[in-house]
Parts: sequence; structure tokens; C-alpha cells
Amino acid sequence: MLDAEIIAVGSELLTPFRQDTNSLYLTEKLNALGIEVRFKTIVGDDASRLIAVLGAAIKRSKWIFISGGLGPTEDDLTREVVAQVLNKPLHEDAATRRRIEARFVRVGRSMSPNNLRQAQVPEGAEVLENKNGTAPGLWIEHEGAVIVLLPGPPRELEAIFAGQCLTRLELLVPKTIRRTRVLKVIGLPESEVDQRIAPLYTAAPEISTTILAAPSGIEIHLAASSADEAVVESSLAELSEKIEAELGDSIFSTGGETIEEVVGRYLVLRSKTLAVAESCTGGLLAERITQVPGSSNYFLGGAVCYSNDLKTLFAGVPAELIAEHGAVSKPVAQALAIGIRKRTGASIGIGITGVAGPAGGSENKPVGLVYISLADEHGVQVREFRFPGDRDRIRQLSSIAALEMVRRRLRD
Ligand code: ATP
Ligand code: MG
Repeated sequence: MLDAEIIAVGSELLTPFRQDTNSLYLTEKLNALGIEVRFKTIVGDDASRLIAVLGAAIKRSKWIFISGGLGPTEDDLTREVVAQVLNKPLHEDAATRRRIEARFVRVGRSMSPNNLRQAQVPEGAEVLENKNGTAPGLWIEHEGAVIVLLPGPPRELEAIFAGQCLTRLELLVPKTIRRTRVLKVIGLPESEVDQRIAPLYTAAPEISTTILAAPSGIEIHLAASSADEAVVESSLAELSEKIEAELGDSIFSTGGETIEEVVGRYLVLRSKTLAVAESCTGGLLAERITQVPGSSNYFLGGAVCYSNDLKTLFAGVPAELIAEHGAVSKPVAQALAIGIRKRTGASIGIGITGVAGPAGGSENKPVGLVYISLADEHGVQVREFRFPGDRDRIRQLSSIAALEMVRRRLRD
């Protein structure tokens, strides 16, 4: 079993201000080689804690990647701790010392002596040259395990990994092909998705299946690896087809597309254009639609009709209709959709009105009540939603629901 673990060293990574992104980069690259990451640890710049973490890692993992703490300052302890735990004395590497000195000459700065700590190398370690900084990486083989030390700055870590670790790993790891597939689901709760597809994925143990909550709904991540590419592809395709058959058109994408992209593709395919009149989403729907490059081919634009007066002025919603039913109502949502369609000449008009909260809710019209309407040449439809969550979530869910209404309209 090719099991790896990653140790991210740095006290700043234990604060709310900095995130460990190096391990995400490393995990993606290692997975592609067929190496699974089984543990990740974040540890502060503290020798005794790092000794404990490294001690545990050596007992359980074949590959250990340590990021950070290789620099010249007092709190950079990784090199010394690793040398101590592995019982390998440090000595100065002449070539590394020359490179560090030359780097300071090149950038025209004088070098403080503590920089030479970075030329210290544990016995038997290979130096991984760092072209973007002073601290080199180190590759250490120890009792069947491989321990790789990489500098913390992502630019340096990534360049060293890609330039010098990948080829070494490829030589040591049996060749495996890993493929992934993401099925995106909309409109079904996670528990229902899991209940319906569990019999399918438990029958395919060679595929690792993960169900994740994503902003636009649920994502089903499938991953498989094997030495044989055809085997990987066909097992992924088989499970994917079974899941698609089970969940039907609740799946809007199998190739990584977002809901905005899918809607855009349909609009182009059907030669339709779209315009929106948004109240409670305040332009969020237009923002999402225009995230897609090329959206100018089908998105005409929209109006943020926040006040009652602007609903009338921009989308032609009769003032009497608002007075009679209230701004958050089915008839007003319909009038927004019909009005913006007429005003812009779009094939499809969308109207959104609702109570995003936290204030403004009432017994009849609680926070989360949203009406979304779609008008096209066939007529006008309107749906009532009761979205959970805070203001931001209600606005996000509203814009996604509107996109989903367009998708369903165009798919039929
Ligand atoms: P340096 O020579 O720059 O001191 P170093 O190997 O000692 O390199 P650190 O001092 O631990 O690395 O971190 C340097 C910078 O790299 C920090 O500012 C930090 O924000 C960033 N960094 C460190 N670890 C990570 C990580 N795991 N993910 C993302 N960024 C990181
Ligand atoms: Mg440092």
C-alpha cells in the first residue's frame, strides 16, 4: 500500500489568518501517481511537538512530506528536528553554500550568517535545489520510508516538487492511472442522494465514491486507479451511468461544468436569449450568468428592481399589482419576468422577488420566502420557495433555483 502523509509546519497555519494550501497541492499530485494521503498534520514551530508528529509519521507511513520551517530564522526548526529524529548528523553541503552565497550576490544583498543554516544537510540526504529561494528541499530515505522536506512558500514548494520530486517518485512507484469524475446534482438533499446511490457504489468497491455538499447542490466524486487505463475508464463509466440512470435529470453535469455553464450551453444550443429582473438577489443572478466567458452571446442584461417604483419603471410592473399583493408575491414575480422580457426583447425573462432577511419577515411572508418566475414564448411559470439559512444563503439559493428553472425549461 502506497500511503503518504503530509506535515505542514508553521505556527501561522494554526491561526485563522493563514491556510495550509501546500498539502492540497501535494495531495493532488500524489493522488495522480496512485499514492493516497492517509494523514495530514499541522504543527506549530515547536521542536518537541514536531518530534512527536514526525515520530508517529515514521511508524505508519511510507511517504512523508514536510512543508515549511526550512528557512534561516530561529523558528525554522524542521531540518534540525528531522536530523535529530532520524539520528543523522548534519554537515554543510558545499554546493548549497555556494548557491546561497551566489544568490545574495545576485540580488545585491549582504548575507547574515544564519543563512548558512540552510546549507546544513542530514547525512545521506539528497539536496533538492531551490531556484526560487534560498532554502533547498531535502530527500531522505530512511528504513524503507522516504521523507521529503520542502520549503513553505508555495511557489518554491511547487517548483521543487514538480521539477525534482515527480521524476524520483515515478521511478519508485508502480505506474498507475488515476481518473476522477464529478457528477453534480441539483434539487435533492444529500441524504436522499446517498440512500439512492449507496447500493450502486457499494457494489463497485474498486471506485472511491465521495458525496460532498457544494454551493449549487451535491457533488458525487468518483475516483479509480489501476495500471490499465481502459479498466479505469470502463469502471468509472459503468458506475457513472448507473448513478445517472438512478438520479435522472437531477444530475446537471458530469464533465465538471457549473450550472451557469450548462444553462449557457443550452441557451446557445436553442438560440435563445435571457434577461433578468432581480429584487432580493440584487444582481447576483446576473453576476453568476456573466461569470461564464461568452455569456454575451445569450445574456442581454437585467435590472436590479429593488424599490417598488423601480419594479414599475424598469420592468413595467403595475403599481396597483404591488399595492394589492405586496412586492413579494407570485403576481409580482410573474410581472417582473414578463416585463423584463418585453422591455429587452429577450426570449426568456426571469423575475425574482423574496424576503432575504434578517428583517422584513412576517407570518404570511417569512424570511426565506422567494418567488421566481420564468416567462417565454410559451407563457409564464412561477414557483414558490422557502429557503433556509441566512441572508447570503437565501440569495445564493435563489439565484441557483432561477438557473435551474431555465435549465429545466430548455432541456424539455
Ligand atoms: P522561508 O525561507 O521563506 O522562511 P520556510 O521553509 O521556513 O521558508 P515558512 O517560514 O514555514 O517556510 O513559511 C514561509 C511562507 O510560506 C509563510 O509566509 C507561509 O505563509 C507560507 N507557507 C508556509 N507553509 C505553508 C502551507 N502549508 N501552505 C501555504 N503556505 C504556506
Ligand atoms: Mg521560515
